[in-house]
Formats: sequence, C-alpha cells, structure tokens
Amino acid sequence: MSLKKNSLLIHGGIDGDETTGAVNVPVYQTSTYKQDGLGKDRGWEYSRTGNPTRAALEKLIADLEEGDYGLAFASGLAAINTVLSLFQSGDKLIVSDNIYGGTFRILDNVFNNFGITYEIVDTSDASQIEAAIDENVKAIYVESPANPLLTVTDIAQVAKIAHANDKLLIVDNTFLTPYLQRPLTLGADIVIHSGTKYLGGHSDTISGFVVVKDKALSERLYYLQNAIGGVLAPWDSFLIIRGIKTLGVRMDRHVENAEKIARWLVDSGYVSKVYYPGLETDPGYEIQKRQADGPGAMISFLLDEQYDYKKFFETLKVITLAESLGGVESLVCHPASMTHAAIPAEIRKEVGIADELIRLSVGIEDVEDLIADLEQAILDSKKAK
Ligand SMILES: *Cc1c(COP(=O)(O)O)cnc(C)c1O
Repeated sequence: MSLKKNSLLIHGGIDGDETTGAVNVPVYQTSTYKQDGLGKDRGWEYSRTGNPTRAALEKLIADLEEGDYGLAFASGLAAINTVLSLFQSGDKLIVSDNIYGGTFRILDNVFNNFGITYEIVDTSDASQIEAAIDENVKAIYVESPANPLLTVTDIAQVAKIAHANDKLLIVDNTFLTPYLQRPLTLGADIVIHSGTKYLGGHSDTISGFVVVKDKALSERLYYLQNAIGGVLAPWDSFLIIRGIKTLGVRMDRHVENAEKIARWLVDSGYVSKVYYPGLETDPGYEIQKRQADGPGAMISFLLDEQYDYKKFFETLKVITLAESLGGVESLVCHPASMTHAAIPAEIRKEVGIADELIRLSVGIEDVEDLIADLEQAILDSKKAK
C-alpha cells in the first residue's frame, strides 16, 4: 500500500522489529556480528559496513525522498565528503553562490588540494550555469532555498541543463526536508541532507544523509561510505528515526510561524530587507510554490540602520543566539561571523552576504512570544543619536 507523506514519516523505512515485534526499531549497539561459518554471515558483518538500526533509517530517508537508496552519515559534512569523493583530480563542480559555509570550506580547502575545483555562480540564473559548463565540469551543486539568503533555484530547469550536458545535479535539501521538497522527483541525481537540522529536529544529534535513485551511483556511494567510514552510530540513528516521526507536525508549525514573522518584519518598519521565499514579493516565490509544498522556516533580514545589530543579538530573551537551525527552539545567528565565517570576506561581499545580515531559524514556540521578543530586542538596540 502506498502511503501519503505523514504516514510515511511514521511507517516508512523498516517499521518495527521482525524478531520481537517491538514497535520501534531497536538500537543494535554492536560493532560486529557472529558468523556461522566461513562466508556464512547473516547479512551483517561489521557496523561500519551495515547496522540494522542505521539500515532502517537509510530505508526511511530513501522512502521520504522518493529515492531508492539512502545512506546515513555521522554529519552533513561526512555526507558531503562522501559525495565529493565521487570526483577525481581535474574534475570541476559548479556551485551555488549561496551555500553553507562548511560546504564552501571543504571544497575550497580540502578537495581543492586534490585537484577538484569549483566555480561559484548564481544558480537561480540558468544562463550563468550554461556559461560555466565545460568538459571538466562533472556536477552542479545547489541549495534551494540557499543558505543564508534563501535564494530559490529552479531545480527542474537546472536538472534539464545538467542532463543535456551529461552532468550530475546534486541538491542539498536541508532547509526544506522531504516533507516540503523532493528534489529527485524534480530531476536531481543526488540529494544531500544535514539531518542535524529539521530531520532530527531537537538540536541533540549531528547526522547527514545521501539519497539517490540510480543503482550504479548507489553502489559507488555505498562503497565510498564504507571506505571512508563516516557512518551514523546506532544510537544516533535511533534518535533521528524518532525525530522524523514528528517532522510533519513540526514543519507545519515552523512554516506557519515563519510566515507570520516574515509578514510582521516587513510591516514593522524596523527592517530594511527581508529574505523569505514565502513572501509574494520575493523573487523566488513563484518557483518555490511550484517545486515545493511550502517555503520553509528560515528567514534572513537586515535591520534598519538606526538599530545596532550586535546589540540586538545580546538582547533577545527567548530566541537563542547559536549556530545551527531546524530545531523546535528558535535560533538566531550572524552568518558573517558564524555559519559563513569560512567564506572569505570579499567573496561574502560579492555574493551579497552583508556583515549586518541576521538569520533566523523560526521554532515552534507560540509565535506571539517570538514576535514580542524580536520587537523588544530591536527597540532596545536603537542607536543613541
Ligand atoms: C548544517 C548544514 C550542513 C552541514 O551539516 P552538519 O550536520 O553540520 O555537518 C550542510 N548543509 C546545510 C544547508 C546545512 O545547514
């Protein structure tokens, strides 16, 4: 029976435990497995290679993304590391100008050392992608909406360009999760997640995922996962399975709160700019509506110049100043010195990440409390004349 998405969150993947009937997948906290004779294992050999708790989660994320193969990693960056290991010296990637700072760092300072290069373009502009494609380019790597300016890329359009030129399309789907957007159904070849964010949802576990449909690609990725070894531990796999069960109700509330806060910010007169693809005035609004089931709950904004953004961060009482996003609690961050500090200042400036930019991960608290907190902190941060 094919299930709708809220049911899949709870019954997708490997549901329960065959052996005991336990409703939840048990935590198989073991590094190795007894073999009944030489070459006679029971399907499990060693927990870097495979673990039943992790396997249940890997099947679940594949089901949710409408893919065929899922892989779970110890972090989003361990997932990204494994995907980038598909490439070799001389290969080049086209990368969104708005990407997570750590993704930029691993490209710029790790894979670059092995001769894998990258070119940054605005992937929301198809002509820039087409202009950057040459025979060395092996893949296009996008985030949509992108971090931190929430730029929306037309995934189906970029997939067409990628495939017409025999390139892979890789999409980091962390900001929307499969509950709101399923890039494989739009033509992407590889989906990446930081499961640390909405999938886990409680700011208590670091994790990452890769999902694909193509069998040959999946075999190479499983090979790399085992060869590199950045796998997700059994207990952490259990925590992410538990988090995913409530993803739907959480995302609905996250988005409802974010839409209210974005409108409030626009109407407040306290800000000079709001970046949120759920606003009709946002350049990505139409594409986002077409390719996703909601705009997500990440908002970036610039305070009007009469307010001191540094003071604003210190005066918030409910919203916490911290790296990360996607947890039940609202978090605020300063991309230039936190999540995107790994990107050199001149590149940040080029791609429009202002030093004054504030990024808000809207949680599932009562939205009135969040708005009241934002307002008192903004008013308190007014510069002296
Ligand atoms: C956090 C994040 C990552 C990295 O994931 P970790 O789990 O922190 O390693 C990658 N991409 C995006 C969009 C992120 O927000």
